Amino acid sequence: MHLDPFELHRPTTVEEAVGLAHDLAGRTDFVAGGTDLLPNYKMHLNVRPHLIALEDIPELRGRSLARIGAMERLADIESDAALARVYPGLADAVGEVATPLVRSSGTVGGNLLVETRCFFFNQSLFWRSSLGYCLKADGDKCHVVPQKERCYATFSGDVAPVLLVLDAEVEVAGPSGRRRIPLAALYDATGDGIRRLTLAPGELLVAVHLPEGARGRRARYKKLRVRPSYDFPELGVAVAGRWDAGRVASMHLAVGGVETYPRRFDELTAPLEGCALSDTAVRGLAEAVMRKLRPVHNTFLLPDYRRRMVEVYVRRAIAEAREGAAE
Ligand SMILES: Cc1cc2nc3c(=O)[nH]c(=O)nc-3n(C[C@H](O)[C@H](O)[C@H](O)COP(=O)(O)OP(=O)(O)OC[C@H]3O[C@@H](n4cnc5c(N)ncnc54)[C@H](O)[C@@H]3O)c2cc1C
Ligand code: SF4
Repeated sequence: MHLDPFELHRPTTVEEAVGLAHDLAGRTDFVAGGTDLLPNYKMHLNVRPHLIALEDIPELRGRSLARIGAMERLADIESDAALARVYPGLADAVGEVATPLVRSSGTVGGNLLVETRCFFFNQSLFWRSSLGYCLKADGDKCHVVPQKERCYATFSGDVAPVLLVLDAEVEVAGPSGRRRIPLAALYDATGDGIRRLTLAPGELLVAVHLPEGARGRRARYKKLRVRPSYDFPELGVAVAGRWDAGRVASMHLAVGGVETYPRRFDELTAPLEGCALSDTAVRGLAEAVMRKLRPVHNTFLLPDYRRRMVEVYVRRAIAEAREGAAE
């Protein structure tokens, strides 16, 4: 597999990057650490002739308890003791991404925007051509759920579920200015699965913002994968909670690695507020989450197994979040 030639642009401000993206519309991608984008280019997946490197833009850097720049490396977040103390779930999730080598280049922005994955997509051009390609790249049908309208590729970023339960917002810059949206609104939950984000063409992720309220929540992240030192999630469960005299003061739960977008389940956790969280209530919540999820057979583990593991991982994540809160 080889990388086709491309022209690399190196803007030094957000405005310059957004302007370039506007001028090169449809012919360019932003590149952060390149750990997701460039392997995909090598497989000839949606390749563009221009790349806009984000490396030289100082505004995309910097991290504090309130703001993490989109270009912050995962390895730097992982080794930040202040962040880990206040947001242990973030430290869990970042430390679970790929390998130390990938984390030393990969960024938090790239992780939130990582391409969705599928057996039939993450393959070489030769492999895909032998099957007639698929909807998500170069073809017109889906091999997982045969039809011609929707892609079921899985959102496989580890960091989004934790940031979702911490109520994170993302700052986005585009040709018409800047906006701040809840992280959940970054993902297209109702579309065709191919357009997986709500970003307009050429919009750039500038930073992740964490509200003050996130600091009192204890979050944890549990990940199911085949090879613990390397693989993408087959399931990722994040839980954040506050407990008051043994009762739930607030609880949020999000799941990634199963559907086309990371999904938060407020409709299931809100009724638990004010309740003592008995083992029966935890099991009931875990089963309800499991019933809502619909994995398809496009990753290594079978859908039925992944669904059953939802229940187990929800229980484990809640137990750990509760333990942390009691400390
Ligand atoms: C062997 C291997 C194993 C992996 N395992 C995991 C895993 O277990 N869990 C996991 O979550 N990921 C995994 N990854 C995927 C990837 O490495 C990480 O998600 C990483 O965080 C991506 O960050 P990056 O900076 O390299 O993104 P890039 O590859 O540079 O970009 C990813 C996408 O985001 C866009 N983008 C990046 N930054 C911005 C921005 N600021 N604004 C707008 N668009 C932007 C790019 O255009 C591209 O579409 C793995 C990758 C490899 C190679
Ligand atoms: S789910 Fe279907 S359309 Fe989507 S990547 Fe897989 S085979 Fe292609």
